[in-house]
Amino acid sequence: MRRSTSNLVAGTSVIAVALALAAARVGHVASKESSMGREPTGQTGVANIRVSPSGYDITPLPPERVAALAATLDPEAYRVTQHAGTEPAFCGNLVDNHREGVYTCVVCGLPLFASEHKFDSGTGWPSFFRPLDGTHLVERIDRSHAMVRTEILCARCGAHLGHVFADGPRPTGQRYCVNSAALAFHEVGTPLPPESQPLALATAYFAAGCFWGVEYAFSLVPGVVDVASGYQNGHTANPTYREVCSDTTGHAEAVKVTFDPARVSYETLVRFFFEIHDPTTLNRQGPDVGSQYRSAIFTVDEGQRETALRVMAELSASGPFRGRRIVTAVEPAGPFWPAEEYHQDYIEKTGRACHIDIAAARRAAGIADP
Ligand SMILES: [Zn+2]
Repeated sequence: MRRSTSNLVAGTSVIAVALALAAARVGHVASKESSMGREPTGQTGVANIRVSPSGYDITPLPPERVAALAATLDPEAYRVTQHAGTEPAFCGNLVDNHREGVYTCVVCGLPLFASEHKFDSGTGWPSFFRPLDGTHLVERIDRSHAMVRTEILCARCGAHLGHVFADGPRPTGQRYCVNSAALAFHEVGTPLPPESQPLALATAYFAAGCFWGVEYAFSLVPGVVDVASGYQNGHTANPTYREVCSDTTGHAEAVKVTFDPARVSYETLVRFFFEIHDPTTLNRQGPDVGSQYRSAIFTVDEGQRETALRVMAELSASGPFRGRRIVTAVEPAGPFWPAEEYHQDYIEKTGRACHIDIAAARRAAGIADP
């Protein structure tokens, strides 16, 4: 499933509740394309935004942001979520709620549970047999009150929600016992606030020589969610590294950049691309020679194409390349074939360098050297 496709729809907030329910229905939604053979594993370790499999921003909020949000809560919600309180049984307003909709964190708005997983446990607290997305919760051993229980907290803001017990109904056998005061309910057909909607992510593709360093460099840019290495715009299907290296398949070593347009623009990514490699050497980057190492921007729509050509024209006229001609190709993006697993996160896994000047990339990304 292409995450970006679902998020185009999710922009319409009224149907976002239905979308969240659909995510709940399929359980853990796959976030990677599955139609392109090999699949790189999840997000790169250095990405600065955490996105859940169902497409929500679950990056932990800084304490000052949590404090500001918690300051707006009513006293009972504050006591329960910020001081691990428990509301009296049968007193919460959502115990007997049987309407169809989504339950979000009362503090930060992250969707946590869906009505179709709710059941009457008879305990006096809202009970669910599974969360909407397991990564939206954090579990922690709780030894308070002379018991050993598993506490559940919101993964994004750390709000105390309740506990989970192994005495629930089928199919999971789990009982997520949650305080009404820790939840906000949104009925199907009502608008969801922005903080309760999935991210509307976008995709960009760049080729700038050996993909190891290019992947690492883009992963440094704030607003980039994920970067994968692969092969693109050749004329064979599912190529291997060996085939691409033979310079006969037409593919370029490329990276697929998944980003949040609310945090970083496509134009910023294009300018970054021109900062981290030499776009004036035809079919060559550093010691690597061959068309697979060509400089290219593979665009997904007319807007990206216009932006890429405009930035290129600007850099050609005034830019830092001292009259040398920029030879970067701007072409419509063809299929992106993820590279073999050992190529993904290569710099991070091995600590090895390549033609990309990582220190310069860090500066271009606005990140101080460690
Ligand atoms: Zn929260």
